[in-house]
Amino acid sequence: MKALVLTKKEHMEIQDRPAALLKNHEIKVKVSYVGVCGTDKHLYKGLPGSGDANMPVVLGHEVSGVIAELGSEVHSTLNVGDRVAIDPNIPCGLCHFCHEGRPQLCENNQAVGVTRDGGMAEFVNVPETNVYPIPDSLSLRAAAMVEPVSCAVHGIHELMIRPHYTACVVGDGFMGQIFTAILASMGLKKVAVSGRNPKKVELLKQIGADDVFNPEKEEHGETYDLVIECVGVTATQERAIALARRGGQVLMFGVADPEASIQINAYDVFFKELTIKGAFINPHAMQDAIQIMTNRIDVETLITHELQLEDIPKILDGTIKEKITKAVARIAQ
Ligand SMILES: [Zn+2]
Ligand SMILES: [Zn+2]
Repeated sequence: MKALVLTKKEHMEIQDRPAALLKNHEIKVKVSYVGVCGTDKHLYKGLPGSGDANMPVVLGHEVSGVIAELGSEVHSTLNVGDRVAIDPNIPCGLCHFCHEGRPQLCENNQAVGVTRDGGMAEFVNVPETNVYPIPDSLSLRAAAMVEPVSCAVHGIHELMIRPHYTACVVGDGFMGQIFTAILASMGLKKVAVSGRNPKKVELLKQIGADDVFNPEKEEHGETYDLVIECVGVTATQERAIALARRGGQVLMFGVADPEASIQINAYDVFFKELTIKGAFINPHAMQDAIQIMTNRIDVETLITHELQLEDIPKILDGTIKEKITKAVARIAQ
C-alpha cells in the first residue's frame, strides 16, 4: 500500500509497503480522507504532538474511512463496509489518571499517527475501541474532522456554560471557527470572534458569530463570560485573559510553544474570580462530535483545501506558501 512516512525529523517520503499485520483486537480501515493539522507540522519539525512521534511513522490522526477487515477477536458490532471515524488516542487504562477517569492525562498514551502508524496511507489498523460508526448523512470528507471537533467538544465539556453567558473566541482559524459554530448552536446570549483576517468575517457571521472584531485595528472594551483562545501565541493568550469579565472562564485551547510564557496579573485572577483552564485532546467526546456534526454544524464548508497524499509534505515543509485554514487529503472513496 501507499503510505506517507515521516522517516526522520523534517523528512517525509511516499513508500510502497505491505499493509501491517492486523492484531486480534484491531480493525483495519481503508482510509477515505485524512486531515492535515498543526500538530502534524509540529511532529514534522520534531516537536511533540499528543506524544512524541515514533519515527519512522505514518502521520495522520484525523481519519475517516470504511472498515476493510476485523481482527479475529473483535467484539465490536461493526462490520466490514461500515463507514467510520477514528479516535487516535489510546490511553493505557492502567495508570493513575486512567483509573480516575481522565484518560487524556494518561502517562502512557499511544496515538494513531503519532506514536504508531496513522491515516496518511491506504489502510490503517486501530484498536476496535477507537472506531466509531458515522451516520449515512455524514460524509466521509466531513468525518475526517470528527477528531478536531471532538477536541473542541472536550474544551466545551470543561467549561460551565449557561444560556445567558456571552462568549468570545480568540482566533479565526479552523478551530476558532469550530468553537464559534458550536457555541452559536448552543444559543448563548452572544458569540463574538476576535480575528485579524477581514476575508473571514462573512464566513464567521454565517456560522453564527454575532460580532467579529479585529483587536489590532479597533478599540474593544467589551468583556465576556467565556473566552476561548484558539491561536496559541503569547499575545493572544494575554488578550484572552484580558477579555474575560468578572467571574469569567478562559479556555487555553491553542497549542502554545512549550518554551513560551505569558504575564498574568494575579490580582485580576483574584478580584475577577477568573478560571483559566486547559483542554488537552478529546476524552469521551467522539460521540458528541459526531452528533453535533450530523445535525448542528456543517464542518465541510470550513474545509478550504482538498489534496492528494503527495501534496502533504509541501504543506508541512512550508513549500506551499498559501495560507491554508484547513486541508484534507483524499485517499480513497
Ligand atoms: Zn489534529
Ligand atoms: Zn493511562
